[in-house]
Amino acid sequence: MSTLDAEVAVVGLGTTGSMSAWKLAEAGVTVLGFEQYGFGHDRGAAAGESRLFRAAYHEGPEYVPLLRRARELWVDLTRSSGRPLFTPTGCLSIGLPDIAPMRNVRRSVDEHDLAHEVLDPDELARRFPQHTPVEGEIGVLDLAGGMLRPELAVLTAIERARAAGARLLARTPVRDIEPGDGGVTIRTDDRTWRVERVVVTTGPWVRELVPDAPVTAKPIVLTWFAPADVRDYRPEVFPAFIRDTGDRHLFGCPTMDGVSVKAGVADVWDPLPDPRALTRDLPEPALAPVSDSVRRFLPGLHPDPIRHEVHLDGYTADRTALAGPVPGLPRVTVLAGFSGHGFKMAPVFGEVAADLALHGGSGFDLTRMDPARFGRGAEPARRAAPVPPAR
Ligand SMILES: Cc1cc2nc3c(=O)[nH]c(=O)nc-3n(C[C@H](O)[C@H](O)[C@H](O)COP(=O)(O)OP(=O)(O)OC[C@H]3O[C@@H](n4cnc5c(N)ncnc54)[C@H](O)[C@@H]3O)c2cc1C
Repeated sequence: MSTLDAEVAVVGLGTTGSMSAWKLAEAGVTVLGFEQYGFGHDRGAAAGESRLFRAAYHEGPEYVPLLRRARELWVDLTRSSGRPLFTPTGCLSIGLPDIAPMRNVRRSVDEHDLAHEVLDPDELARRFPQHTPVEGEIGVLDLAGGMLRPELAVLTAIERARAAGARLLARTPVRDIEPGDGGVTIRTDDRTWRVERVVVTTGPWVRELVPDAPVTAKPIVLTWFAPADVRDYRPEVFPAFIRDTGDRHLFGCPTMDGVSVKAGVADVWDPLPDPRALTRDLPEPALAPVSDSVRRFLPGLHPDPIRHEVHLDGYTADRTALAGPVPGLPRVTVLAGFSGHGFKMAPVFGEVAADLALHGGSGFDLTRMDPARFGRGAEPARRAAPVPPAR
């Protein structure tokens, strides 16, 4: 067997990959990492100024152990780096009490004893007049919630990984990974590399290297609005929020620049069969659903966005990530398909990646994230066609 370049390679150093490289290097193994663009770039899922952190979870209380650990890690990293990575603003969930996301929020706080306040419709209107009330809707203020800084977090994890000895290469797309006897061969444009095992964290692009991964790339559009009075949207008085009213799913953050407020509408954008065909400048009519929602639900904001950005995430059919060994590709672990809600859990998935790659398991129950769950016994994964040049 040829000499190994490292024990573990991490392919894709965005949200999950940067944290995985950090946690693997910290565990004392030799780490080689590849990123197709520059570190902290804005083409994947780790960009757009802010991300919400919530622990009272719309997606279900089974996430709370991961979220608790993630929050501990965010608080530690914020403190030890001296950077404003996590800002505890609380996170306000708004909706009718009997809709599934609000039932999951209530189950999360009840089953895991999370600090929170339940606001009846009158209290919600009184405390948070920035949101237009809809009859019967309540609020649950998750006191563990807050905001994260995605680009800065990725760059901080890259620095930590390097400080712990990882060799990380920017602007180095991986074209192919090929498991074989005693190791895995990785091909980049100018050479091949040999490692013992590989962690694939290529997010929306995951099918280029793991073609059978059941992940679809989807754009998420972020929009920023000018408030009539920005003081009403400071972090001290306007928590991060997530709202489900009728068919509208809104989310947003307090002002971070003292000028604008980010508010977005999810689930109104079509999947993108080829993540490399992303259009990052939308025509005016495409922004109409967002303006319409802001006009209805956030009357203190001017409804025409002053800025928009388009980013990608990888989605699975059940909106639950893939985390585990790749069927048919020995020595390869995948973590992808975070389906629009993975940023907040990035550091804990860094730990999970290290545990999976080094020990074959994790202390967290990852059964529902099994990459094989959509087709156990399906035909073995084929090797990918070479990855086309990045654009
Ligand atoms: C606009 C938007 C808003 C969101 N809001 C929230 C939120 O408020 N809270 C929350 O928790 N989550 C949120 N999410 C979801 C969260 O950001 C994602 O789930 C998470 O960032 C996914 O991380 P990832 O590591 O899978 O992908 P990425 O961060 O995109 O990382 C993949 C990396 O792999 C690299 N790569 C791909 N192919 C190759 C290759 N062949 N060789 C080398 N490198 C390669 C890419 O360039 C990229 O850097 C949001 C997502 C978006 C897009």
